[in-house]
Amino acid sequence: MSRKPTTRDVLSAEGRRTLEPFLCPRTLFAFDLDGTLAPIVAVPAKARLRARTRRLLTRLAAEHPCAIITGRSRASALRLLRGVPLALVIGSHGAEWPGEPVPLRWTRQVRAWHRTLARRLSGVRGLFFEQKPATLCVHFRRSHHRPAALTAIEAALAGLRGARSQLGLLVVNLSPAEAPGKAAALKRAAAALGCARAVYVGDDDGDEEAFVPGGLAVAGVRIGAQRPTRATLRLSDQKRVDDLLRALADQVPTTSATSVRTAARSKGFSMHGRAQSPSGASEAAPLMKTMRSSRPGKRSRTAR
Ligand SMILES: [Mg+2]
Repeated sequence: MSRKPTTRDVLSAEGRRTLEPFLCPRTLFAFDLDGTLAPIVAVPAKARLRARTRRLLTRLAAEHPCAIITGRSRASALRLLRGVPLALVIGSHGAEWPGEPVPLRWTRQVRAWHRTLARRLSGVRGLFFEQKPATLCVHFRRSHHRPAALTAIEAALAGLRGARSQLGLLVVNLSPAEAPGKAAALKRAAAALGCARAVYVGDDDGDEEAFVPGGLAVAGVRIGAQRPTRATLRLSDQKRVDDLLRALADQVPTTSATSVRTAARSKGFSMHGRAQSPSGASEAAPLMKTMRSSRPGKRSRTAR
């Protein structure tokens, strides 16, 4: 009889052993945002990172390649992550990349779905829509009858052309079927940053594909104790992500800046060209600056 795969607590002794091969230079540390780095709140616009989470993420990202792959729009994620020296922030579930406009046909498609679903679901109370450049989110977290609201949403999706739907935490996400998802985004980010492996941390079903993307060694960490997962590691509670960030920042040796920069260029990425976002959030260049000045065993000022 085959045994069920075991999912271990990432901070247990066994979990740390599983994670150990990933605690080395040239590992990409990638995170979902809502429910992973930021607690889930009733109004997505009011989500915030705890001060401690921000401090620890800043410390990790100052010395190691870190990326965010979120369902939010990139602009919204950059506002939330202002000042954190991330290598990459990828929005709309993997479809929205720095310096690459979202294809107009995707934006038009999302707009058309919005109009259709607003009409079809006008009689269902407690729903609200969030339109992003390459995704439409139908939230039902404010509904008093969530199972019924979800059934209504699923029925309303019938006949929507070219849509890929994914159930998140009290939300249904719709993306163009041809747009890349989180697995493709994770592999592309790792290649761009010259990373041979990745640790990916996420909290909902939309993150599952990134735990086992194929073609890249990934240590997947699923946040939350309840849902079944393909990840090999788990954290029972979002609050514990601070402990994970601290463990990573303490234990991973520093990466060579030159090798990451060279690899990124060879893949056609201009790291410096997308250093500044309109919001002031930092990507790539601050990371490279810190990495250029870092030596193994030495922590940067940002890291403290
Ligand atoms: Mg999430």
